[in-house]
Amino acid sequence: MAGRAILKFDSVSKSYGDIAALGGIDLSVERGSFTALVGASGSGKSTLLKTVNRLVEPTAGTVRFAGEDVAAVPLAALRRRIGYVFQKIGLFPHMSVAENIGIGPRLAGEPADAGRIAELLELVDLDSAMADRLPSELSGGQQQRVGVARALAGGPELLLMDEPFGALDPVTRDALGDRVRALHERLGLTTVMVTHDMAEALLLADRVLVMDAGEIVADETPRSLLAGGGGAVAQGLVAVPRHQAERLAELER
Ligand code: ADP
Ligand code: MG
Repeated sequence: MAGRAILKFDSVSKSYGDIAALGGIDLSVERGSFTALVGASGSGKSTLLKTVNRLVEPTAGTVRFAGEDVAAVPLAALRRRIGYVFQKIGLFPHMSVAENIGIGPRLAGEPADAGRIAELLELVDLDSAMADRLPSELSGGQQQRVGVARALAGGPELLLMDEPFGALDPVTRDALGDRVRALHERLGLTTVMVTHDMAEALLLADRVLVMDAGEIVADETPRSLLAGGGGAVAQGLVAVPRHQAERLAELER
């Protein structure tokens, strides 16, 4: 159903000199879906994600968000409606947790009050007493929870995450992944998550897009990928967690 698309890419390409980072992407993302974008390093995942909130301007093609060409929407208005979680967390070190979370609304001239900050902290399962701490006083996992709370502060319709859990230990990573999936349901978000970890994509997403050299080479459900679909590049990525699971099962015998 075309009417349910919140994102639509039409022949979106991006070149850096001789490098074609995106080779003409056509893609539609449905409202309410949780999509994972998987692929090797350098395959164009971050570039594609960044064309949505205009951290990257395409060389050619159009990106539409909620029916509007993003190039025609005022930047501040666009970014208020799109939450973005950075790979490297990117909290401001000299600002408190509350100030970091509230920066978007504050820049938009609608500062979040203490009640709203507490509500956002609660969403990501952090104690409201953490509001006055500095990022350096938090663990990596807690910092990335603050990063997620900051992305949600403006009440976005769309949540974009670029390898959000890449810097975290496996246990923290697993817990935060589950929390984000639960938030996606509870807040009725549309989520696009970049990851190079196929296991994470299979476990969290409804739809898995595989990128290779600037192209989308597979567009499958987790179930169909596990059943062998999606082609050679996709199956190469699925083989990694499958092989690990098989070896663990052998050790248990
Ligand atoms: P991924 O996120 O999948 O690792 P990227 O989207 O970051 O891949 O990069 C895709 C390609 O574009 C790579 O070849 C990368 O080196 C190149 N690239 C990305 N950003 C820039 C940039 N600002 N300048 C030049 N080349 C870039
Ligand atoms: Mg990247």
